[in-house]
Amino acid sequence: MDDLQALIFDVDGTLAETEELHRLCFNAAFAAAGLDWSWSQPLYRDLLGVTGGKERIAYFIAQFGGRPALPAADIAALHAAKTALYTTRMAEGAIAPRPGILRLIAEARAAGLACAIATTTSRPNIDALLAAFAPDALSWFDAIAAGDQVAAKKPAPDVYHLALKQLGLPAASCLAIEDSRNGLESARAAGLACLITRSPYTDGQNFAPALHVVEHLGDPDHPCPDIAGGMVTLPLLRDWHRRARR
Ligand SMILES: [Mg+2]
Repeated sequence: MDDLQALIFDVDGTLAETEELHRLCFNAAFAAAGLDWSWSQPLYRDLLGVTGGKERIAYFIAQFGGRPALPAADIAALHAAKTALYTTRMAEGAIAPRPGILRLIAEARAAGLACAIATTTSRPNIDALLAAFAPDALSWFDAIAAGDQVAAKKPAPDVYHLALKQLGLPAASCLAIEDSRNGLESARAAGLACLITRSPYTDGQNFAPALHVVEHLGDPDHPCPDIAGGMVTLPLLRDWHRRARR
């Protein structure tokens, strides 16, 4: 029972290049709250080592002395304001799926595989992103495990354990697709083989335990430079998955 039966996708950086929009919305939320915090791209690259928006804000405050210490309720309010800005921008069409994402999901579903999401982002962000992809995009996924449903965020395996439980499948039958070291560790700790699609904010991280590392999944308009044929197809994934299980 280790044939490939499901693909489990990370969201930020994997389904879409969302990190830059997240960064801009954090800064807009800080400004709206009268805070003079501004997260630059290099700083945000470091801050992405902390998964979860509220956790990231708390880490920033603790790490950079001289900031006013904020009570947890204020951090939650800041994060809620940021999420509202983000979902609005998303609904306006600010983000497109990464190359090959829609193709591979369609290919998997047509072949009878399940598709799922395992992410540390919160549920409103997922709903906003999927609604921007297509009106029925929520229905493409048989399970959605989000960061606000588990005790420990990535790199802990909790969110993958939850996705597997929702799917009713063993880890050996599933393959994770991630863009970060934290995501890779989370998937591996839950016993899943993991494909990495590199992204600007995670490039240069150590992806040694990954099944494969590629620029993106590729489609006819944006061929993947790392794959003969330019596309990570379902047969290719099945082949990689089978070899990894031997
Ligand atoms: Mg990611």
